[in-house]
Amino acid sequence: MSIGKIIFLYMLTLLTCVGVLSFLRQIRRRSFGFMGSADHIFRCEGCGYVYTDDPDVDRSRCPQCGQTNDVYKF
Ligand SMILES: [Zn+2]
Repeated sequence: MSIGKIIFLYMLTLLTCVGVLSFLRQIRRRSFGFMGSADHIFRCEGCGYVYTDDPDVDRSRCPQCGQTNDVYKF
């Protein structure tokens, strides 16, 4: 077996491994699908501004006018 064939087989194996890993990564990413943000959505009762805040916050202050608002329910 010549040195050229050994290098060729080495490169072929390496590229195949990279290809398979990238393929598996894509499949795993697709299987999770769209993961929405866990943040709470607020709609200000004073000015109508829509904003988000951390998921552990039940009442949040509007960044536009400062009024405190409850979590918006769809
Ligand atoms: Zn507001």
